[in-house]
Amino acid sequence: MEYFAPKSRCNLCNKEYTQRGLTKHIKSCINKKLHDTKGDKYLYIVVQSSFNHDYFFHLLLSPTTTLRDLDAFLRKHWLECCGHLSAFTFDRWGEEIPMSRKVNTALVPGKMIDYQYDFGSTTELEIKCITEVTVNTRDRKKIMILSRNEQPVFPCDECGKHVATRICTACQWEGEGWLCEKCASGHDCGEDMYFLPVVNSPRTGVCAYDGE
Ligand SMILES: [Zn+2]
Ligand SMILES: [Zn+2]
Ligand SMILES: [Zn+2]
Ligand SMILES: [Zn+2]
Repeated sequence: MEYFAPKSRCNLCNKEYTQRGLTKHIKSCINKKLHDTKGDKYLYIVVQSSFNHDYFFHLLLSPTTTLRDLDAFLRKHWLECCGHLSAFTFDRWGEEIPMSRKVNTALVPGKMIDYQYDFGSTTELEIKCITEVTVNTRDRKKIMILSRNEQPVFPCDECGKHVATRICTACQWEGEGWLCEKCASGHDCGEDMYFLPVVNSPRTGVCAYDGE
């Protein structure tokens, strides 16, 4: 088998799209379903792993949302393992943007900022601001999930035949160690070895991350 990323769902209409078609679709779906000239100005953004764009969130952010709110959201769904530091920055590791900033003062449609969680084993994310939209949403949450990627499927590094479900933390850095249940049961890397589950997050297999 080979690696593949399944289609993902637009939460506004429940239809499935590939990662490539999703942004264009969601833009028009927002216009159809939520647009209201008397509404508030929200931001439509895409957060994705810097190194694998198959991990993503499409989000609608209310005008009161701060970067700290977005940080908390990302930690909850994707990142939190042991309370590491994090930062929003311009130009990858450039100038840091204060967490107290409202998203609509930090994000500009068509532009991108970056985010890092954990300055040791860093998980890097890109945050693309797609557009500002005037909408009326019954969802009163600051952050509304428009779409989240379906979990990508990785083949087992050892047999190549089955889906990898566990990661050996000792040998994954050599491009091995993503294992199916069968190969994991016979795997022995010495006493420092432990397994982490394969989960739907760009932090899967990193530090002690074991899921939401
Ligand atoms: Zn839709
Ligand atoms: Zn950690
Ligand atoms: Zn296997
Ligand atoms: Zn191993």
